[in-house]
Amino acid sequence: MVLQDLGRRINAAVNDMTRSNNLDEKAFDDMIKEICAALLSADVNVRLVGTLRKSIKASVNFASLPAAVNKKRLIQKTVFDELVKLVDPHADSFRPKKGRSNVIMFVGLQGAGKTTTCTKLARHYQTRGFKTALVCADTFRAGAFDQLKQNATKAKIPYYGSLTQTDPAVVAAEGVAKFKKERFDIIIVDTSGRHRQEEELFTEMTQIQTAVTPDQTILVLDSTIGQSAEAQSSAFKATADFGAIIITKTDGHAAGGGAISAVAATNTPIIFLGTGEHMMDLERFEPRAFVQKLLGMGDVAGLVEHVQAITKDSAGAKETYKHIAEGIYTLRDFRENITSIMKMGPLSKLSGMIPGLSNMTQGLDDEDGSLKLRRMIYIFDSMTAAELDGDGKNFVEQPSRMVRIAHGSGTTVREVEDVLSQHRMMAGMAKRVGGQKKQMQRAQNMMKGGNKDQMAAMQKRMASMGGAGGMGGMGGMPGMPDMAKMMQMMGGGQGGGGMPNLGGMDLQSMMSQMSGLMGGMGGGGGGGGGGRGRGGR
Ligand code: GDP
Ligand code: MG
Repeated sequence: MVLQDLGRRINAAVNDMTRSNNLDEKAFDDMIKEICAALLSADVNVRLVGTLRKSIKASVNFASLPAAVNKKRLIQKTVFDELVKLVDPHADSFRPKKGRSNVIMFVGLQGAGKTTTCTKLARHYQTRGFKTALVCADTFRAGAFDQLKQNATKAKIPYYGSLTQTDPAVVAAEGVAKFKKERFDIIIVDTSGRHRQEEELFTEMTQIQTAVTPDQTILVLDSTIGQSAEAQSSAFKATADFGAIIITKTDGHAAGGGAISAVAATNTPIIFLGTGEHMMDLERFEPRAFVQKLLGMGDVAGLVEHVQAITKDSAGAKETYKHIAEGIYTLRDFRENITSIMKMGPLSKLSGMIPGLSNMTQGLDDEDGSLKLRRMIYIFDSMTAAELDGDGKNFVEQPSRMVRIAHGSGTTVREVEDVLSQHRMMAGMAKRVGGQKKQMQRAQNMMKGGNKDQMAAMQKRMASMGGAGGMGGMGGMPGMPDMAKMMQMMGGGQGGGGMPNLGGMDLQSMMSQMSGLMGGMGGGGGGGGGGRGRGGR
């Protein structure tokens, strides 16, 4: 089970229960059962799940709860705290210091993701002002140096390796010595792996460790191995004492929950999660934030209120909502959305509030993120009114407009292009949402008329639209369920093309944002009828 699915399921279990009118002991037991089932199908260790079940039950003693206590809140909080406990390794890891050479060595089996993650980590530190270099001490696998070289070149990170030296300990020592002399802050040593935990691998690891005396050794584990992560890390621990773990491929259809919880149980801190093949796909692992994001919890209702509070007096925002409902999304609407995002506060705070926004903030500081948004605003500010109110076609017809805007806003043409292509996708989505709303209205009108043939035709059409729900869904925002699907689709499909300048993940988050905004709209009377859309509780 993919982690997001796990989060969704747990969240749904909690929501189902807290939503039910008579919050009795049976509803509570059902919720715990469902949460445990979800964890088990994410390959979390049976023993751990058992512990979690007991502690939730113990923390919320139904019978003795005074009536005044807000049961729902208490239960939500308990589930959250217990999940945090489940993945918290209760240990701090090494933190590199500037102004001295910090040597970091990677170990792990072949294919775990060491080389990829080395570059990700190097980039991570480099963007935080550390002078960072990479050393390839994998002389075992042909092409290993080439792979590192390619990655490093792409990320503009200095590297060292050898095509002739066959002793990995020698290459490692040479590389580390060279970069130490050149006063690099962080020197990351990539090593080779083997398919299995073989004697040779461990001998080699020990030799390299002796040669470079790393300040930190990081074990890289592939999340797809699930619970066996625990056994694997013990095997490594016996030889190369590592102080931290990075779990990769948590984006795949792996039982990432299994690996994460298994490793957490060994009390070695997980410092990062690999969430994709690209350079930016590295997410810091922090138990509380992780569970918060996993559950998409934060407080969605709180966010909706937050957005409403901000946009209440903003005529522009209302205009945007009206537009979206009609299937229109201009560049001006886009600017309006970005402005609202900026008004909401630091990204790190928001990511806890909006499910899915975690993707945006990964690899980005608050500073990086808001700078990016600000640059987008500069771009909008350099547009003419006609451009802002248009659908972006005039940029396709006259690309020189992009150059003009880049000049005027002090950004690059690439950034302008990225803004435009993000806008295009958002506009496409708005069109679809708006289109559906219109279709629904037509359908409603038909039903009032009561023509049987028309009814049948309409039902067919609705089915083909992907089931926007029964009649109950009509009053609110019929497009929402589909939009969520689209958000996922687009977020996933984007990997290949990428939008490096904008961090690549912005689109998805914008969409989350949009869904958040629209959730607010449903509740704020914009859509009338059916409640708060998906954003609500
Ligand atoms: P190494 O043998 O340990 O150095 O592993 P590599 O770095 O060469 O990675 C092996 C494969 O896993 C490559 O195809 C990577 O692109 C892929 N990979 C590494 N990390 C991730 C991740 O977080 N997500 C996904 N989807 N793929 C990853
Ligand atoms: Mg490698």
